[in-house]
Amino acid sequence: MDNITASEVAGLGVGALLLSATLAATKVDAFFSSSQRSSLEMCKRCGNLRRLACSNCKGTGSIREGGILGIKPVEGFFETFGDSESKVKQIACVKCQAKGYFSCPNCSQL
Ligand SMILES: [Zn+2]
Ligand SMILES: [Zn+2]
Repeated sequence: MDNITASEVAGLGVGALLLSATLAATKVDAFFSSSQRSSLEMCKRCGNLRRLACSNCKGTGSIREGGILGIKPVEGFFETFGDSESKVKQIACVKCQAKGYFSCPNCSQL
């Protein structure tokens, strides 16, 4: 361990500095991109898309009838297993009126 030269130590130091500088730059970059949005008067919620995807239907505008809430009895499960996919109805999402998105509450106030 005694044969580490001063230049090697310096190299390690520079390497560590560069690494921490890179990490810091990434954080600073993230910080600026979010503050830039507000300074450019872009909407923080939708990024000026003026719409937000509906969380209820995942932006599709329709949901599967009898999804997570429709619990089927176990006895009926095996009977319907083969063609259960064809029996699933797509019903319009009530939450977003089947649009799949809402107009952004931040932007619609403008
Ligand atoms: Zn929806
Ligand atoms: Zn918005």
